[in-house]
Parts: sequence; C-alpha cells; structure tokens
Amino acid sequence: MLQQDDHDVVVIGAGIAGLAAAAALVAAGRDNVCLEARERIGGRLLSKAGPPGALDLGATWFWDGEGRVADLAARLGVDTFEQHLAGDTLVQDATGVRRLPGNLIDAPARRFALGADTLARTLAAQLPADTVRLDSPVTAVHRRATGGLEVRTSGSVLYAQHVVVAVPPALALARIDFGSELSPELVRLARTTPVWMGAVAKVVAHYPSAFWRDEGLAGAAAGRIGPLQELHDMSGPDGRPAALFGFAAALAVGPGFEQAVITQLAQLFGPAAAEPETLQVQDWSSERWTAPPAVHHLADHSLFGHPLYRRPALGGRLHWASTETADRYAGHIEGALAAAERAVTASLTTGEANSCSR
Ligand SMILES: Cc1cc2nc3c(=O)[nH]c(=O)nc-3n(C[C@H](O)[C@H](O)[C@H](O)COP(=O)(O)OP(=O)(O)OC[C@H]3O[C@@H](n4cnc5c(N)ncnc54)[C@H](O)[C@@H]3O)c2cc1C
Repeated sequence: MLQQDDHDVVVIGAGIAGLAAAAALVAAGRDNVCLEARERIGGRLLSKAGPPGALDLGATWFWDGEGRVADLAARLGVDTFEQHLAGDTLVQDATGVRRLPGNLIDAPARRFALGADTLARTLAAQLPADTVRLDSPVTAVHRRATGGLEVRTSGSVLYAQHVVVAVPPALALARIDFGSELSPELVRLARTTPVWMGAVAKVVAHYPSAFWRDEGLAGAAAGRIGPLQELHDMSGPDGRPAALFGFAAALAVGPGFEQAVITQLAQLFGPAAAEPETLQVQDWSSERWTAPPAVHHLADHSLFGHPLYRRPALGGRLHWASTETADRYAGHIEGALAAAERAVTASLTTGEANSCSR
C-alpha cells in the first residue's frame, strides 16, 4: 500500500549536496525529507574503512580557496591534513620511465583524516532522525493541479512545495520521469551535461608502507601508456594507511585490467609495488546511481553551471543542486556545497509568480 506525506521541501539525493541542502533547510526552519536511492549516503564521497584509517574510492582532496569545504569540516569537527607532496615525479611513456625532480603533478591540497565520506556521515548524523530515507529511488516528479509538486518512489507518494534535485542532471533525466513539464531547452541541457568523474575508474593500491617515499618519490606519476593515466600518493596522515591511487578510463576496465595495473605499478615504482595488500577498482560508470547509460558520451564540460540551472523550473518549485550545476568549482565538493546553497536560497525565496521556465 502506498504511503503519502507532505513536506515543505523534498530533497532528492543524499550526496554531499543533498545533505547540505537538507541541513540548510532544517536551519531555516523548513520541514524536509531527503530521499536517497542507495542504501548508503555520500554519493561520490565513498571511503572504504580498513585499519588504520580509510581509503577514498571517490573524492579525495579539497584545495586552497574552497572555503565552504574547509568551513564545513571545521564546523563538523572533521579532521583534515595536508596532502603529501615531497619527492620526485615519474613519467611513463613508450620509451620507459623517467624521473623528474620535484612534484610536478600534485597541487597543495588537504585531505580528510578518516576518509572523505566522514564529511557526509557527520553532516547526516546532525540531521533530525528520519530526514534521510535510504533505499528510496525517486521515479517521478510532477506538478499538481492544486499547486506544489508530487514526488514518487516505488513505495510512496510525497507532496512538497519545492523539490531540490541533488542528482547529476543527466542522471536525473535518465531515472526520473518529469513528464513533459520541463522546457525542451532544459531537457536538452540536462541530458547532455557530463557527470563529473562518471566515466572514470579509481584504482587504489594499499601497501604495508609508503616505500616510494623512502626512495625520494612523491608517489605522483603520469602514465602515457598503461591503464592508469595519473597516479598520486593517497596515504593517510603520517603515511598510514599507505596507498597509491590512479585514475583510468572506465572503458579500460575488463578482463586483464587488474594485471595490467599491477604491471604498470611495478614498472613505475619497482617490484614492491607489484604486491599491494589490496587492490580496489571503483568503476563509477557502472554505478546505477551515479552514471546514466550515456555517461561515456557526455563530454561538454562547458555546460557545467549553465545559467538555466539557476532558473527554478516547474513553476518555480524545482531547483538543481548537484555539483554539475554550480557556476564555480563545478565538479568539486565545493561546487556541490555552493549549488546546494543556491538551491536552498531559491526554494526559500522563489514563488510561482517569478518563475521564468516551465
Ligand atoms: C573518482 C572520483 C574522484 C573525485 N575526486 C574529487 C576530489 O578529489 N575533490 C573534489 O572536490 N571532488 C572530487 N570528486 C567529485 C566529488 O565527489 C563530487 O563533486 C561530489 O561528491 C558531488 O556531490 P553531489 O551531492 O553533487 O552528487 P553525488 O555525490 O553524485 O550525489 C547524488 C546522490 O543522489 C543519489 N541519487 C541518484 N539518483 C537518485 C534518485 N533517482 N533518487 C534518489 N536518489 C538518487 C545518489 O545515490 C547519490 O547519493 C571526485 C569524484 C570521483 C567519482
């Protein structure tokens, strides 16, 4: 039997944007519920716990100037530390491996001591109980004849004055039925906006120690052959847990991929690199709640932060909040927080009368 409930705002997605939106709505005194498709929160913030510390399979860093992330971490008491930078860079091409002095790849950045997803988990823990509903994929959003919006999941119907879509736009269009109520321009834009890192696999190799540091290497490398195109030291504070990670095109993942990764790691960092304690491959393109079917074909990053995303749709009641919709820092955690801020402000101030787009 379908359940039915009414809210000021329904937030779709409990990634960092949706959670930040939910928290801001609570702070503004608005009743809201945050519907999450997966059985976990965090979205592209995902860390694998393992003693000691945790290894990030999604986002890792935040950078200078990303004040929202720094402020949120400080406010939540989430410990951060500096990315390890010291050491030389390796470059691998068809002629072999070259060592270049200094770290030419990593910019100064900060990391989350217990994994990036502590930001999401700590934020979610501060929300009123029952704000986040897991395992609740939204299937449809429609306008109601009587005003407001109707939000459907497979097991429930919710009514809201406003909806915040904290889901990458292309994914939202692939998984949620908006009927014919969005303007053709918005539909075209949303369908073609890339999902940041949606076509990427992150490979994390966990070692007993950060042996490359002993050899004066930064753990930073560029691969022009081999599956990993860019590698970094992803060890925790004081080098524990010790880890290297690399990005690969998700299309490269398949039979033989892991062996090719091990071979490349050994070519770059020597025989010790061929024996990680664990090797994890996180293929984001195969994640139903991150990547739409067309993810490998979406490449026009100039669509990030498009002005249409700042214009509430569906009679001024639907607001976009994923990182892809931010006009600055799009793709980053900072962009997700900025987009959530904008969407919440719009939901608090926009009425039917001043909406310009269907
Ligand atoms: C490998 C990788 C490395 C990265 N590295 C960095 C980095 O170092 N620094 C950085 O700043 N950023 C990085 N990013 C990007 C960063 O992770 C994102 O910017 C940020 O997490 C996006 O948050 P979001 O809330 O906008 O979207 P998401 O995290 O994608 O959250 C969307 C949420 O909506 C849910 N959802 C989807 N569809 C539905 C539906 N129909 N109904 C209900 N729920 C739904 C999803 O399950 C998900 O929880 C990286 C990302 C990846 C994948």
